[in-house]
Amino acid sequence: MSGDLDPVDWAAFRAFAHRALDESLDAVAGIRERPPWRPIPAAVRAAIGDDPLPRAPSDPAGVYATFLEQIAPYAVDNRHPRFFGWVHGAGTPLGIVSALLAAGMNANVGGRDHAAVEVERRVLRWWCEVFGFPATASGILTTGSSMANLIGVLVARRRALGAAVRTDGVRAGRELVGYTSFEAHASIARAFELAGLGRTALRALPFERSGDLCDVALRASIKADREAGREPFIVIATAGSASTGAIDDLAAAGTVAHDEGLWFHVDGAFGALVQLAPGLRHLIAGIEHADSLAFDLHKWLHVPYDTGAVLVRDGALHAATFADHAPYLARMTRGAAAGEPWFTDFGPELSRGFRALGVWFAMKTFGLERFGALIEEQCALAQALGRRIADTPNLELLAPVTLNIVAFRYVPRSHTSPGELDDRRCDELNAEIVVELQERGLAVPSTTRIDGKLAIRLNVMNHRTTQADLDATLAAVLTVAEDVLESSSA
Ligand SMILES: *Cc1c(COP(=O)(O)O)cnc(C)c1O
Repeated sequence: MSGDLDPVDWAAFRAFAHRALDESLDAVAGIRERPPWRPIPAAVRAAIGDDPLPRAPSDPAGVYATFLEQIAPYAVDNRHPRFFGWVHGAGTPLGIVSALLAAGMNANVGGRDHAAVEVERRVLRWWCEVFGFPATASGILTTGSSMANLIGVLVARRRALGAAVRTDGVRAGRELVGYTSFEAHASIARAFELAGLGRTALRALPFERSGDLCDVALRASIKADREAGREPFIVIATAGSASTGAIDDLAAAGTVAHDEGLWFHVDGAFGALVQLAPGLRHLIAGIEHADSLAFDLHKWLHVPYDTGAVLVRDGALHAATFADHAPYLARMTRGAAAGEPWFTDFGPELSRGFRALGVWFAMKTFGLERFGALIEEQCALAQALGRRIADTPNLELLAPVTLNIVAFRYVPRSHTSPGELDDRRCDELNAEIVVELQERGLAVPSTTRIDGKLAIRLNVMNHRTTQADLDATLAAVLTVAEDVLESSSA
């Protein structure tokens, strides 16, 4: 066996590649003809799971046929207009092309002197401009906001503990503590864990309430920690919580952080993007004072997974957190190893793909005003849906609709047979409604808990979602609820 890995028959391979591209586009164009989710049949699951180690070669067209049969039909299909689960972007046909082109170049954007690095720098400077960060700010594209939040925490830790943290680690005797809101994403606690600070070093406070409460609670907590000999180092606010879309009082949290000499990090995974929407921007006022800001491009910019970003106001400190110089990564002033600083100086990874191309294509092709308009439309759809739910018998809105997330539950008040349900049975009923909606292929909501109550949660983020999709989903909730009640009372 020998030879390179290029096709022997280029013409045949080209035909196969064109077919794969065409069918990827067809899958999006025909998205409404398929359900947003369908269960994986046991035989298909076994065929994937029990597939033996492939020692011998096979024809790519045959492998592709297996993909079409076993993989493509069984998506949690966030491309679909009635997919409302979690916080997922929908992607675009343009993203298929940009992903293809990026794969074609197969660039390693960890460093060195090439155009892909310049594109990532350009894209990050565009976002600095959007968020009012200075020219001295730095940034890096990441897999998502989980990594972006971790990087923010690590830069803040480097600031608090100095260069010694890189050689000596987090030593006993220095107890760093940080503050975030009750609504904070799980990745914040994980970042504390990964940074060696431990989860208990993170205090949850009511940032999302009025600015006064945030101010008082935060200042009191910082004071108490200092008196106990601990070292407050970071305040982390959320712009758009994953559960309900709630937005912390960023201005108040940032002011306290800076008054007290602490780092101010904002997790703006999706909510930061309302900066693009003139009618909503006021909701995240204060975001421009962040020392570091995490946000995703695979959510409200619909860039292919996985693409997020972190911006850091103090670019020198950001580099001081990660940069080191292994001899085999020596920088030159000319040639392919020029172009310092490299992106590996701004994060934990060396090899990195050309994520920036998808962002660059999307920003240039659609323009930011288009994204802002879409975000405004989706939030308006969600608001209207929230009002309708509040007015619908048997439905109860469980959280205010701040942005694009609607959380509610079905409570059969007027239903005669089961009568008033207790909370536990009500939770079971609503969980069952969600699963039934998914299994019947009608819609994909997810669930959350609000004040202990299980909520049906709709994230209205997909650029393909229309009023008709929401009407159909609400009607489906009511029908499915009746069916579930009927079968449970039968
Ligand atoms: C999605 C999300 C995250 C995590 O981002 P990933 O891109 O999934 O890593 C963090 N915070 C919030 C508020 C989110 O919505």
